[in-house]
Amino acid sequence: MATERTLSIIKPDATKRNLTGKINAKFEEAGLTIVAQKRIHLTKAQAGEFYKVHAERPFYDELCEFMASAPVVVQVLEGDNAIAKNREVMGATNPADAAPGTIRAEFAESVGENSVHGSDAAETAAEEIAYFFAGIEIVG
Ligand code: ADP
Ligand code: MG
Repeated sequence: MATERTLSIIKPDATKRNLTGKINAKFEEAGLTIVAQKRIHLTKAQAGEFYKVHAERPFYDELCEFMASAPVVVQVLEGDNAIAKNREVMGATNPADAAPGTIRAEFAESVGENSVHGSDAAETAAEEIAYFFAGIEIVG
């Protein structure tokens, strides 16, 4: 298995409910290592740039408002198959479809306010990590 890095975001619904530690415990228990991390408050424009792939979707404006509504924790997770493993620990986008024990099954409030983001492929992981972190800030 290849060692990978992926971008993770703990979203506003979760930071507001003080769930950062509980969520990160799940990543660490799954063998993922947090190799970079910061708490930031995105502007709507910064959230819009990050999620620009969804610009044509009906929920885009609501998503950008939500992501700018409170602080987020952006972080880089590293480990074997980290991109897929992160998505597995997160669970399905809609918490109603998320497998028991996953972050979204346990903590998400709705399909929009679903507690975590995770990169979906190697190329997007590299782009998303570079959006938030300089190489010198990632300490594996
Ligand atoms: P994922 O975060 O699982 O990769 P997507 O990339 O499809 O999911 O969507 C990005 C984010 O947009 C979701 O995590 C969620 O916050 C929001 N979203 C997706 N679908 C909807 C929807 N039908 N209504 C509201 N928000 C949505
Ligand atoms: Mg996605």
